[in-house]
Parts: sequence; structure tokens; C-alpha cells
Amino acid sequence: MDLENKGAEISARNEKYLRHLQGLVQILSVSSVNDEHTDWSRFDELHQYLQTTYPMIYQKLELTVIGKASLLFRWPSENPDRKPVLLMAHQDVVPAGREEQWSHPPFAGEVEDGFLWGRGSEDCKSLLSAEMDAVEELLEEHFKPSFDIYLSFGHNEEVQCTPDKKGSILAAEYLKRNGVELACIFDEGGNIIDNESGVRAEVALAEKAPNEFVLYKDGDGGHASRPGKGTVLGDIARAAAAVEEHPMPYRLTPLVKAFLKAEARFKDKKTAKVYRHPGKHFKKLKKLAAKDRTLDAMLHTTFAVTMAEGSAQANVLPSHAEATMSVRILQGDTVESVKKYLESIISEGVLVKVPFAENPKRAGSTDSDVYELLCDTIHEVYGEKTAIVPKLMLGASDSRNYAEVSPAVFRFSGRVKTPKWGEAHQVDERMPVDKLYMPVDFFKTFLGNYNK
Ligand SMILES: [Zn+2]
Repeated sequence: MDLENKGAEISARNEKYLRHLQGLVQILSVSSVNDEHTDWSRFDELHQYLQTTYPMIYQKLELTVIGKASLLFRWPSENPDRKPVLLMAHQDVVPAGREEQWSHPPFAGEVEDGFLWGRGSEDCKSLLSAEMDAVEELLEEHFKPSFDIYLSFGHNEEVQCTPDKKGSILAAEYLKRNGVELACIFDEGGNIIDNESGVRAEVALAEKAPNEFVLYKDGDGGHASRPGKGTVLGDIARAAAAVEEHPMPYRLTPLVKAFLKAEARFKDKKTAKVYRHPGKHFKKLKKLAAKDRTLDAMLHTTFAVTMAEGSAQANVLPSHAEATMSVRILQGDTVESVKKYLESIISEGVLVKVPFAENPKRAGSTDSDVYELLCDTIHEVYGEKTAIVPKLMLGASDSRNYAEVSPAVFRFSGRVKTPKWGEAHQVDERMPVDKLYMPVDFFKTFLGNYNK
């Protein structure tokens, strides 16, 4: 095919993918911690939309609805001789926030300046539609997989809720109950980064475990006119300050080391030297981390004091005070070890409880056949020069809940991120439309390569 025809073919495909994604963005599938606050008719609408947009998938794949509204599709192989592959995304989005701050209405799906604007355009409906488009096209092309292909789309990724309600936990349990052992999983978390320093594929092989810790203290309360030596809220404030003044010590995990080494070539000469041998130049690395929040978060378990509570009225001494911290636990620490650490730095009388506790899952390996296949596929689709950067994801995704059914969890979406991409959860979230075909190509190519 000559270049002109190829260009025309790509733009026709992009137009199709854009239409599919646009329809998804226009559906207000906002999740909420409280099921009663969720408008479930929006999820029904989304399911109906998927059925009309991807008719082959609904004809040929088995569909199980998990929990309230999560979807699990299975494309059964006629002659399975290898482990299944699972493609993931989530259906829900966070609220739009203050709509007047958006330059385009958050759920209109408007296209302007080469972007599709709207809540969920990036996080994570463009991944959901790319995976559906890839599988729909493979069905149209009579692809015959020698392995089962699963698609799993959670309905409440964006909210912290109990395990019996979390769609991804229920779906992983369902797979486990049915004896399914996966070869690998793909989910959000890493993208193709294309900027002036070059092209790289970020593949997140682990994520930090999100926890909620609470510092609390009870007292006698009383009238605010006779406070004596202070209040329990004051004690909590001092405890919170102590936590900020005593961060956990920096250390290097094997994955972060691999990340720094791969990332070195994109850094200036001085930084590159440190990144290439982070163990040897650990002191310098610590200095860099002090000025770089992202690097800082990779090197230790972090504490963010986010909420505080005392008395309900100004003239009443608090009988209970507490401060909530978002704690992101790094591989190597546990809920127990972090709790012990906190207890060692806060003053007596202040206690620690952990309402949302979760230990970090083991990091995936770069030393496996399926990782090698992933790297080969990335080079095939995005070019030989694409650098592959294994990384630690600092936020959390649904995919960590599948650790028991898959040894390889690739948080890699195949989407191409340019500097103008709007960030997830922010005002003016947006997705460039000219590269929509690339994740579709990536998933099709990977599944084809795995089938060989
Ligand atoms: Zn997401």
C-alpha cells in the first residue's frame, strides 16, 4: 500500500474509533462509594451502547455480569493449548467537578483542535474502546485463537469500597473459582510517551498499595473556656507534624532500579549518571528525590495527611480527634511494619488504626517469555527505537486485584501520550484523536504474536 492510501486507511479507522469513544464519553457512568448514589441506569445505557457498537463480541463471546455492573467477556478457544490473556479497563469515571471550569462540556464528547474532550476520554474509556475495537476486528477477520481471551471491565475502579462490592475483586475471584490461570493481563497505568526527548513505552509492573491510616486520640472534652494544657486535637496535630518530619527512609527496589536505568537516557548528563548506577550514587539520588515528588514516591512508603477532625463546635473541647492519612506502601513494607514505624515516631497517647489495609502485591518480572513478547510487539508497532521503561505505578488500578490469577500484570495501554494530553481526573481531560488506531493495532498484534 502506498503512503497516501495508508494515510487514508488510518484516518478512516481513526474516525471509526473516535465515533465509538465519543459515544462512551457521552454516557455519565460516574461511580460512587455509596451504591444508592450511583445512577445505575447509566451503566445499563453503557452496556446497551457496547452491545450495539460491538455486535460480534456480543454474538460470539460469553458474557458474565459480575457484581452490580462489571462485565467479564470470554472468547473461548476451539483448541486451547496455552494460557488465556485478559484485557482490562474500567467503565466508571470520576465526577466532572465544576463544569464551568471546563473549556468543553465534560460529557458532550466534543472534538476540537485534534482532541476529543470529556471526562473519561483518557481514564479510561479510550482503553476500553480500543480493547473492544481490537477484539471486534479480530472476530471480523476470523482470528482463531489457541487460547481464551478475556475482557474485564469493572464498574467501580474509581472508588474505594469493600471487597464484596469491588467489581475487579469479584471478577478475579470468579476466575479463580473457575480454575483460570492467565498468561498475562493488560490494564491502564503505562502508555507510549512521545515527546521531544524521544519515544518510550512505560510498562508498569507493580503498583504501590493504597491504604488509609488514622491517627486518633480520645479525651474528656469539656468547655472551651478551660482548656488546661491543650486538646486532643493539638496532640493529633503534633503527631501529624511528626509523621511529616520523619518520612520513611529511602531505599531501592529492583523494579525502581530497572526503571532508573531505562530512564537514564532521557535525562541530562549529570542526572543520567546517577540513574545509571543508582546504588552507587545513592546519596545523589536522594538529593534528586528531595526535589522531585515522583522520584520521592518511588523510593519509600509515603504518608499524606489529608483529613482532620476535632470538635463539632468552636466552644466545645474535642473528646475525640483524628487525622486520616493516605498511605502508599512500597514493596518490601507491610501494613504491620508501617504501623509499627508510625507508633515509634508519634507521642504516647495517640493511637493508629487502619480502616483500609492492603499489603503491596509482588512486582512483575522483566525476565519472562511473555514480557519478551510484549517488548517485541512494542517494537513492531511503535518502531524499533522505542525505549521500554519498566516502572512502578504510584496510583492504584484494578489490575492489582488479579495478582493471584496472573503472574504477569502489564499496566500498559498502548495509547500514545503527547505533551498536550489532559491528565486523568482533571478539568479538560482530553484524548488526541490522530493516534486512536495505535492501541487497537497494539492489542491485535500482541494477540496475534501470542497465537504463533
Ligand atoms: Zn482509570
